[in-house]
Amino acid sequence: PSSGEQTFFGHPRGMATLFMTEMWERFSWYGMRAILTLYLVAAVLDGPLEGREALAASIYGVYNAVVYMAAMPGGWVADRLWGARKAVLVGGIIIALGHFTLALPSDIAFFVGLALIAAGTGLLKPNISAMVGGLYEGQPSARRDAGFTLFYMAINIGGLAAPLLVGYLGEHVNWHLGFGVAGVGMTFAVIQYAIGSKHLGDVGKLPAKPISPEERRKTLRKVALWAGIAVAALLIDLALGTYDIEHIVNVLAVLGVVVPIIYFITIFRDPALTAEDRPKIKAYVWFFITAVLFWMIYDQSGSLLTIFADNKTDRFIGGWEFPASWLQSVNPAMVIILAPIFAALWVKLATRNREPSTPMKFALAMLLIGGSFGIMGLAGAAAANSDTGKVTVFWLLAVYLAQTMGEMCLSPVGLSLSTKLAPKMFVGQIMGLWFLATSTGNALNGWTTKLNAPLGDAAYYTLQAVVAVAAGIAFMVAGRKIRALMGGVK
Ligand code: GLN
Repeated sequence: PSSGEQTFFGHPRGMATLFMTEMWERFSWYGMRAILTLYLVAAVLDGPLEGREALAASIYGVYNAVVYMAAMPGGWVADRLWGARKAVLVGGIIIALGHFTLALPSDIAFFVGLALIAAGTGLLKPNISAMVGGLYEGQPSARRDAGFTLFYMAINIGGLAAPLLVGYLGEHVNWHLGFGVAGVGMTFAVIQYAIGSKHLGDVGKLPAKPISPEERRKTLRKVALWAGIAVAALLIDLALGTYDIEHIVNVLAVLGVVVPIIYFITIFRDPALTAEDRPKIKAYVWFFITAVLFWMIYDQSGSLLTIFADNKTDRFIGGWEFPASWLQSVNPAMVIILAPIFAALWVKLATRNREPSTPMKFALAMLLIGGSFGIMGLAGAAAANSDTGKVTVFWLLAVYLAQTMGEMCLSPVGLSLSTKLAPKMFVGQIMGLWFLATSTGNALNGWTTKLNAPLGDAAYYTLQAVVAVAAGIAFMVAGRKIRALMGGVK
């Protein structure tokens, strides 16, 4: 920052604005998510409990995949049409409207609200992250990483508070009050962002590569065509009476794999991509694939691990059993504690010229997430062999500790890396791609989680642990080759 300008913990003043916006946005998101499954089971779906639970888990996974997939068109809108600044504002308003719509007690309002939140999050999430990168334009790589660590704290402060407050209100008072409170949080985000934007300088003001009218027409036509095909397929399915939510789950899982492939091909074919950028995108493909595996495992916390917590852990303190959902706050709490420690560790290692490279950090992340499922495998075996069928909750705390350490090696690093490797004109879209890795991971675990019952806990978790550790070792071995593609980017 220039001399005399106020700073935010030593970071650009605009960081305070983005920090607060993202904190409230994540509060609303994780608050809504904390009660989504429970609300579906209790108030929206019909039929026997077991069926409702399975369906709710399916909808939950698909919805996560949809929201993170929306980050790609969201990034595109910022790069080509509006600039990130406006995309975040409009996205924020749409998200707030979405939560308030969920606050209305009606089934239709429920699905409209979810759709609004997906569209708004697609506009907001990748572009606010790209703007964080924009604040550090021309500054050393380590400072940018530190900026993303700070930003990651914001995410997790919101993520820690939300299940406690929204979860409590939703479960114990009224579902719709819970959703409404998430909406109030998002309204804070928007007001604060509108007022604080003046600190953002020129960051995100203009689209990086404005679209030509002809391209706009072409794109609209393509979008209309594919949307038409999707709606037609759904209508035929409904008309034939063969419709099943599984069809949507399967289509999305396929899309989760196909969309990134098409997307990378499109970027590689874009004439605006320079010869210098090309190898960087090639390197990015490898980071992408690794991140997919990481999030595939990580995001089972909200589904299978929560069900494990519910059925197979002893959660009594004194005579009182705490709710399984409280374990959802364990990861954000650990992030808040570990993020500054990891940031300081990287800086300390850097001063000795020993900071691990980004590929090495990704490899470590895979070993840690693999390790976490190794622990889960043992926990599953212990539960199966115990008389009560239950194990101590410390198993899950150990699992979450390993996962959170892995997250620290991959998630803030990946955000920062995406803004560094992305050619200027594609920042929003590469950010969208980064979140697409989460979407693909969730789409895939919609399938893998089905193996849990037939395989049993011990085999199910150990199998994935082995895959993750193998991926980590492969990434470590290939590290030097990948670094060579990155053209000096650390
Ligand atoms: N918990 C982080 C967030 O909400 C990471 C999410 C992700 O990239 N999958 O931003």
